[in-house]
Amino acid sequence: MSRIDLHLHTTHSDGSLPPTEVVKLAHAAGVSALAITDHDILTGIPEAAAAAQEFGMELVPGIEISSRFGDQELHILGYFLDWQDPLLDQRLRTLRESRHRRNPRIVELLQALGYPITYDEVRAVAGSDSVGRPHIARVLMDKGIVSSAKEAFDRFLANGKPAYVPRELPPPEEAIRWIKEAKGLAILAHPTWVKTTEGTLTDLTKRLKSEGLDGVEVHYSTHTPRQTREYLDLAKQVNLLVTGGSDFHGLTKPDIEVGYGKGTLHVPDHLLPKLKEAAGRI
Ligand code: AMP
Ligand code: ZN
Ligand code: FE
Ligand code: FE
Repeated sequence: MSRIDLHLHTTHSDGSLPPTEVVKLAHAAGVSALAITDHDILTGIPEAAAAAQEFGMELVPGIEISSRFGDQELHILGYFLDWQDPLLDQRLRTLRESRHRRNPRIVELLQALGYPITYDEVRAVAGSDSVGRPHIARVLMDKGIVSSAKEAFDRFLANGKPAYVPRELPPPEEAIRWIKEAKGLAILAHPTWVKTTEGTLTDLTKRLKSEGLDGVEVHYSTHTPRQTREYLDLAKQVNLLVTGGSDFHGLTKPDIEVGYGKGTLHVPDHLLPKLKEAAGRI
């Protein structure tokens, strides 16, 4: 049974490899279909589509949108969306602008802590309009202040750490609506990271389904076999589609491999026809 990988980041957001390189790795890993899901940006899709075509692989246009859920972030993946939709483009632009408002404040906090870093350096490392904390982490690594992205998050950048600054984000219902209005499927990403304070994950997914949620990312690099079974049951119970992917970022998350995650990820290719059917692409 062939494998697919529907969660991949490139240099167009905070991944460290350009789309063509990510597609090459996917091909080498025996992946038959892949989705590029950069944060808040769609500019990597044409290059990925061209590379995928060369290798005879299927490219699913995708996005990953962060939303605000209480004091945490809830990530919503979008698949098969009309990636040239001008309204979606405008909406994603506002998300990237909120990054440009937040990031210099993070840099100021790091400067106040005595670390000589500038936002120009961060923008240069990013080389994209979707500038994220992993780019700040990379500048800290380049300057020898930390030795890994993980250390940068653990010491400075994660929620609750001294250089954490929250970003203005839409509620999940709005992220879902944006994806649906661009004719895409809206999927709850990596449920392992969702901490529900009121009610259960089932309650949350039922509520989001009533707002248009189509599916849940059951297969994910850090899900244990038990979690995978649990989320599969959830998808059945709430009548949601099943998706999966590695969340490959290259150097930002060096222990995650395309197609294989931490070694045991296997997203079966038989999931794809169901997704295409739901998206009206069959
Ligand atoms: P941002 O979108 O700029 O708020 O940055 C959040 C992104 O940073 C996430 O989507 C992950 O890709 C990455 N990230 C979050 N926590 C960590 C961590 N501990 N180590 C490495 N990357 C992380
Ligand atoms: Zn990322
Ligand atoms: Fe995510
Ligand atoms: Fe991701």
